[in-house]
Amino acid sequence: MARERLYLFDTTLRDGAQTNGVDFTLADKLAIASMLDELGVDYVEAGYPGANPIDTSFFSERRPMRARVTAFGMTRRPGRSASNDPGLVALLEAQADAICFVAKSWDYHVRIALETTEEENLASIRDSVRAAKAKGREVLLDCEHFFDGYKANPAYALACAKTAYDEGARWVVLCDTNGGTLPHEVEDIVSEVCKVIPGDRVGIHAHNDTEQAVANSFAAVRAGARQIQGTLNGLGERCGNANLVSIIPTLKLKPEYADKFEINVSDGALGRIVRISHGLDELLNRASDRHAPYVGESAFATKAGIHASAIVKEPKTYEHIAPERVGNKRKLLVSDQAGRSNVLAELERIGLSLDKDDPRVTRLLDEVKEREAIGYAYEAADASFELLARRMLGQVPHYFDVEKFDVNVEQRNNAKGERVTVSQAVVKIKVGNEQLISVAEGIGPVNALDLALRKDLGKYQSFITGLTLTDYRVRILNGGTQAVTRVLIESTDETGEHWRTVGVSANIIDASFQALMDSIVYKLVKSGAPA
Ligand SMILES: [Zn+2]
Repeated sequence: MARERLYLFDTTLRDGAQTNGVDFTLADKLAIASMLDELGVDYVEAGYPGANPIDTSFFSERRPMRARVTAFGMTRRPGRSASNDPGLVALLEAQADAICFVAKSWDYHVRIALETTEEENLASIRDSVRAAKAKGREVLLDCEHFFDGYKANPAYALACAKTAYDEGARWVVLCDTNGGTLPHEVEDIVSEVCKVIPGDRVGIHAHNDTEQAVANSFAAVRAGARQIQGTLNGLGERCGNANLVSIIPTLKLKPEYADKFEINVSDGALGRIVRISHGLDELLNRASDRHAPYVGESAFATKAGIHASAIVKEPKTYEHIAPERVGNKRKLLVSDQAGRSNVLAELERIGLSLDKDDPRVTRLLDEVKEREAIGYAYEAADASFELLARRMLGQVPHYFDVEKFDVNVEQRNNAKGERVTVSQAVVKIKVGNEQLISVAEGIGPVNALDLALRKDLGKYQSFITGLTLTDYRVRILNGGTQAVTRVLIESTDETGEHWRTVGVSANIIDASFQALMDSIVYKLVKSGAPA
């Protein structure tokens, strides 16, 4: 049986941008758009041109991608003509494949919020769809408050949707704007709508205020809707939007949906969904939800006891899907066993094969556990792990000592009378019998320290000239007065290899120093610098 096409519409960059604490730069938006394109969503709603400078500049040029780039905005204001509404004109000028209008569909909102008549609101929908189509854009209409509106006045809510459909809108999207509608209500109402508008022209836009945005999306699909709107990791205002990172694996892996529907997300892209989900968290500097369905670190983690021994014999006994399908990993928290096999696998990866019963494996495992308990994260710091292992095996030469460092931050007026903050670092290093002192100024204290550390390593200097830092991330673990800072640094060199190092301390400079030192020493080891 031929499968029906189901479309995915991502609004991470528009509705997701409403998330408390999230502020996308233009560079963020472009990076996320390309992640979405890699994933295979059909539409990327990138923002609201005219609403802020970042969104306006996003739409100031063509952004070539497989997905349809969609601009969001309002239908023409009541009492104005389409050509005499600057907001609508700006929207029509946006460099986009599609335009998604939002319009009221709840009679109460039309009267109270819009202060206009029901007829004028319908005329505004009609004129706006017509103007966008005349511009050659694909048109969508988000029917705001559709479900609440339908409950209050079904005829009017339907009239709004039908007006856009009759005017040739490709999609009429039913929005649960306040997020309070329950799945059985969504299913009933969408079924009614699909009697009037074909389901392959109907979309669902669900918010997560009763934690059922994903369930509501599926309820709408069961009732006939063929477009799902959502965001990566369920970003969005208040409790968020429907989470596409949960919806996509369900559509691809659960026979009820996989047998009936085809989506544009390939099996290969599905296998990268963990990386995409965590990539977004990294970009936003947010901790990933360990317990997120499908993609969380704990999504396939089983704790000791009968489950774990069963899972070793036959993984399917306690897993609803194979974790590899979504790029996740099975995890057994039978501490020693799982930890040991992880450590052995890592040792093999770096070319240090040890026998599994070698007592040094136990020592390394104990050390990793102790350090991870105080905040180190070796899974995210491959180079620091390698150094830890090689040090234990006596394979890291003693290259140099940092006898002392001093970092200083000063705020003052410069010669032009402008207020400036200047950071300076002094590092005293001993290489063999040679004592070296380096001084550097930097953009911030960590940058100054990094520059001073790498300025003069004496006979080792030639080994680190190609070393550059490509990323620096700080995370405060457990808040309050006992906060500990974890610094993760990514470095690269002339060979193009990337490596990550970690430092942990109550002091951010000290944590950074540890990570910087590991990066330099790692580079010396891998370059084969002599002791
Ligand atoms: Zn919304």
